[in-house]
Amino acid sequence: MQNSGFLPISKEDMAERGWNELDFILISGEAYVDHPSFGMAIISRLLEHEGYRVGIIALPNWKDTADFKALGRPRLAFLISSGVIDSMVNHYTASKKIRSEDAYAPGGQAGLRPDRAVIVYANRVREAYKNIPVIIGGIEASLRRFAHYDYWDDAVRRSILVDSRADILVYGMGEKPIVEIAAKLSSGAAVTEITDIRGTAFLGSISQQNLQESGPDQIVIPSFDEVKTDKRKYAQAFLVQYQEQDPIRGKTILQLHGDRYLVQNPPALPLIEREMDQVYALPYQRTYHPIYEAAGGIPAIREVEFSITSHRGCFGGCSFCALNFHQGRIIQKRSQSSIINEAKKLVWLENFKGYIHD
Ligand code: SF4
Repeated sequence: MQNSGFLPISKEDMAERGWNELDFILISGEAYVDHPSFGMAIISRLLEHEGYRVGIIALPNWKDTADFKALGRPRLAFLISSGVIDSMVNHYTASKKIRSEDAYAPGGQAGLRPDRAVIVYANRVREAYKNIPVIIGGIEASLRRFAHYDYWDDAVRRSILVDSRADILVYGMGEKPIVEIAAKLSSGAAVTEITDIRGTAFLGSISQQNLQESGPDQIVIPSFDEVKTDKRKYAQAFLVQYQEQDPIRGKTILQLHGDRYLVQNPPALPLIEREMDQVYALPYQRTYHPIYEAAGGIPAIREVEFSITSHRGCFGGCSFCALNFHQGRIIQKRSQSSIINEAKKLVWLENFKGYIHD
């Protein structure tokens, strides 16, 4: 089996590269698909480009810690995501029936990831290794960073940072924050000292910082205890979150959870055209890992195999849409030549039928 173009998923793959240790291990609630429509592929390739040794643990068995130890202890951190879809949306229909398929798993098999995958995976990592930095990101972590209404529980849940026991949450588009975090960890900073990176959130103690009051650079929103019982307070908190989701003028937001404050730093600055071009020029294999071939592949690749991402963000600001909270309202676009170069690669792929879709 030819795995050489993909990042390591086993100790054997690491040995092929002459690595006895990884810098970062990405744990994902979806199969390993090395395509730029998948956040895990982008983050892993970006870290590789920055010179780090990166490995992938996809769809681990969460019933015990064995899969979480498969690549050993990383030098710098575990990075955890549920994948491109929230695990609850992936598992259940809007009428709360269990879905029979998972397009992001081998052969479309359902049930290979747990409910609330980010929380489960992060806690398994904590069981497997003591004192290892744990960083969570992706859509599930991003959209659950504050106290939030959960449709499945029909209740307000606390920030996912509390239940996952992660050190840092990367929200929105993760390229800039993860490169900054990696540089700080690599230079010897303790993960608890990394509190000032845009596009991240963490839990701080009340005594740790001046976190109690709103000021020129920070806003305190109603606490978890307030928003879980008072709809007006919930609406007030959400309004501030929405208004401050602005990389230019957005402030730090604080929300009390018990005796700790959730601290959300302002959003990461949008990628400029050159940075977008760099991200999409990384050496993606553009398909799923061959280990899934025997099971029938990963159905989700069909939607994106011949698509090209031209831009991110939307200025629409529709009240029912979460895009503002994840990609932001500022349009980030690639250059024409970058898009054309990607199109030229697509036409030589085996299954290309002559058209490129959204
Ligand atoms: S629904 Fe979302 S993506 Fe569509 S226009 Fe509204 S904000 Fe933009």
